[in-house]
Amino acid sequence: MNLSTPLDDALNTKREYIKALRDMSLHTVEDLLLYFPRTYEDLSESKQLLQVKDGEKVSLKGMLYGMKDVPTRSRKIKITKAQFYDPHGNGAEVVWFNQPFVKCTVPMETDVTISGTIKYQYGKATIQNPRVERAGQAQVHTAGMVPVYPQHEVITSKWLREKIHPLLHLAKEFEEVLPSEILDEEGLMGKGEAVKEVHFPTNQKRLEKARDRLAYEELFLLQLSAVQRKKEWQGSRLKDSLIQEVKMDVQFVKNFFSTLPFTPTNAQKVTIFEILSDFEKPYPMMRLLEGDVGSGKTVVAVTALLNAVLHGYQAAIMAPTEVLARQHADSIDQLIQNYEAKFPLKKPINIQLLIGSLKPKEKKVIQDGINNGQINIVVGTHALIQESVRFPRLGLAVVDEQHRFGVKQREVLMKQGSPHVLNMTATPIPRTLAMVAYGDHDLSVINEMPPGRQIIVTKVVPPEHRTQVNRFIADKVQKGEQVYVICPLIDDSEKLEVKSVKAEYERLHIVFPEFKIGLLHGRLKSEEKEAVMRQFKGKEIDILVSTSVIEVGVDVPNATIMLIEGAERFGLSQLHQFRGRVGRGKKQSYCFLCPSADAQGSYERLKAMVECSDGFKLAEIDLKLRGPGEVYGVRQSGIPDLKIANLANGVLVVRVRKAAEHMVESEKLDKHPVLKSMLVRLRNKMEKA
Ligand code: ADP
Ligand code: MG
Repeated sequence: MNLSTPLDDALNTKREYIKALRDMSLHTVEDLLLYFPRTYEDLSESKQLLQVKDGEKVSLKGMLYGMKDVPTRSRKIKITKAQFYDPHGNGAEVVWFNQPFVKCTVPMETDVTISGTIKYQYGKATIQNPRVERAGQAQVHTAGMVPVYPQHEVITSKWLREKIHPLLHLAKEFEEVLPSEILDEEGLMGKGEAVKEVHFPTNQKRLEKARDRLAYEELFLLQLSAVQRKKEWQGSRLKDSLIQEVKMDVQFVKNFFSTLPFTPTNAQKVTIFEILSDFEKPYPMMRLLEGDVGSGKTVVAVTALLNAVLHGYQAAIMAPTEVLARQHADSIDQLIQNYEAKFPLKKPINIQLLIGSLKPKEKKVIQDGINNGQINIVVGTHALIQESVRFPRLGLAVVDEQHRFGVKQREVLMKQGSPHVLNMTATPIPRTLAMVAYGDHDLSVINEMPPGRQIIVTKVVPPEHRTQVNRFIADKVQKGEQVYVICPLIDDSEKLEVKSVKAEYERLHIVFPEFKIGLLHGRLKSEEKEAVMRQFKGKEIDILVSTSVIEVGVDVPNATIMLIEGAERFGLSQLHQFRGRVGRGKKQSYCFLCPSADAQGSYERLKAMVECSDGFKLAEIDLKLRGPGEVYGVRQSGIPDLKIANLANGVLVVRVRKAAEHMVESEKLDKHPVLKSMLVRLRNKMEKA
């Protein structure tokens, strides 16, 4: 037997279990050994019965006597009892509920280790549903740091402990992935040892070392792959890139700023400087521009677009919806017209909108204009990445709300002559997470909001206050303001006590018979969605009931209320993104978070929304509480789920990044075949995602 032995052969078990394992993507011994515990029950201290407090979970040594079934009145409950004595003669009653088979499995009148929770009833100690193991043999359930695996209906922790323990001797066959220099420098445990320790730790300290090591490896592979991709983008693609060095023209920047209707924030200036510095380099940029909702990413992008065009390149900006593309086209056109009015150009800049809903003829004209280089700036949707669109001189591609596009879609633009690429996020992503999820990008962060932004009044609304909120909404709508209502689901679900848009849409008709109510969800065709949004913008709809599809940067300044049903089901960064839909005009705006009736427990988390209007902080909390996948806009980045690394540990992320950069720069990768083959595997996995 070895690490690649199929579990089918390695485990003596029923088909049902093999099937469940397969569903969990566990096929070989290696897979099983790399399936890590979620947490541990610390039973490392063996106590004496007299020391144990009520409700404490303990491991005890002793013997069991006199097992018997106890008759009960109910046929549904079966009780089995025995007496336990520790070596000092202190006793406790042991009770099993509905486990009559313990009579055959639990060893009696012999030395055992027993673990369970102690309860004192009328001064007498009882242990309920304990686990029992013979002394003198491996103790996997009742002593030490007992591993608890992710919850699963069929594959229980008990089952896993019994199956994994006898396979642990194979852990030494794991090939060392990390270079020995790194192991030495970082003082890391070897791979095999770490795998062994992570399942059945010798002690807390060794467990931490094991987890550190496995986390390091996980991050190292991701970072190495990112640094590699970055280098490829800068290097090998250079061959077909049109990019030439463009010296920063400070006068142009000053001129452009002087035509803006506002003064750029410092953060905007810094990010513009970072981007224009990239233009000075002989290879294409790959940059992620992060900023909170409303932090003013558009004007940063426009400076870059204009800079590209003034140096003879074409430039494109792609947005995920037609509404957003139109919005951009209008505002970009306006900004550039202002610029041209003050600083006339020999040849005016030609800006066009390319979206799917244009008539074929119109589309053809624009495509031709792009292909023959007449058009300088194109604002568009997915229509930009159709076969028939070919840019002869694309110098800059900007992708707004980039998480809405797949890796493949973004690549289509990148392959048009390897232009500079600026990807923009819809909400902030914590820096350490961005370093991993977007590790092949350089980061620019707008960490400051334009002055004078209103604070959106945010409240968590318990069910008993709903009538008040309804009255408040009615009052505002009567005054001509508009409302968003977000629900987590499209249809009603039998399992979940969560509101659906369809049911809510019906219900609101009854609550507000006098108002016009609209419905928006992902199953509508995109033209239907666009039509609903247009109606809302045009005030033909007062209250718009929507699923999370609304999140895309729509701008309806007259909307002042955002009400979110089933709010506990969303991450904070997504709630923050919803909240960013209001507060875009002059009027005071409100955000009501309405948790489901059975979600009292989530009030604490939601309170963060009340106290905090900083998207970066909220995303940090998401990352800490719910993990990287919950941070808005990250799941789509293509990074695999992290098994063990904690990205809230910024120090580690930065250290690993340095090591990965060093490895790629010093071109030492060829000396590490195991690492190389793992990188190839990771890359294939990410490309499929
Ligand atoms: P986002 O980062 O969410 O894409 P936008 O670029 O759409 O934000 O900007 C939001 C609004 O703020 C726009 O109306 C824009 O004109 C305005 N804005 C941007 N920068 C500034 C600034 N420095 N001062 C004042 N208003 C600004
Ligand atoms: Mg935007």
